[in-house]
Amino acid sequence: MDCIFCKIVSRQIPSEIVFEDEKIIAFRDISPAAPVHILIIPKQHISSALEINSSNSSIVSYIIEAAARIAREEGIAEDGFRIVNNCGKDGGQTVNHLHFHLLGGRNLTWPPG
Ligand code: AMP
Repeated sequence: MDCIFCKIVSRQIPSEIVFEDEKIIAFRDISPAAPVHILIIPKQHISSALEINSSNSSIVSYIIEAAARIAREEGIAEDGFRIVNNCGKDGGQTVNHLHFHLLGGRNLTWPPG
């Protein structure tokens, strides 16, 4: 499968990894939209949030728990941060491997563009 995030998991593509365990990996976004911009992904290939079902949904809460831990480690927990999942064309998804953006370190505007 030609998936860049699977290639990050298998180290075929380099990345700046900030956390990894048997289920997930977190690495810095190559084109950061905020001072802290980290992507957190399941190691298992799941194309998007549309593929979440009762047999794999536990990975989502696992990722959110990791995001909160990483936010504390990155020093953005106190001021606040945003966890974003883009899904599909209109959602702005450009990589078809489920990922959550952890963004912080500046005041993030709302609504998004
Ligand atoms: P999305 O638009 O929600 O699908 O997010 C995909 C994100 O992946 C974008 O923010 C890209 O900057 C980021 N990205 C793409 N390729 C890489 C890479 N090789 N290493 C780190 N981040 C990447």
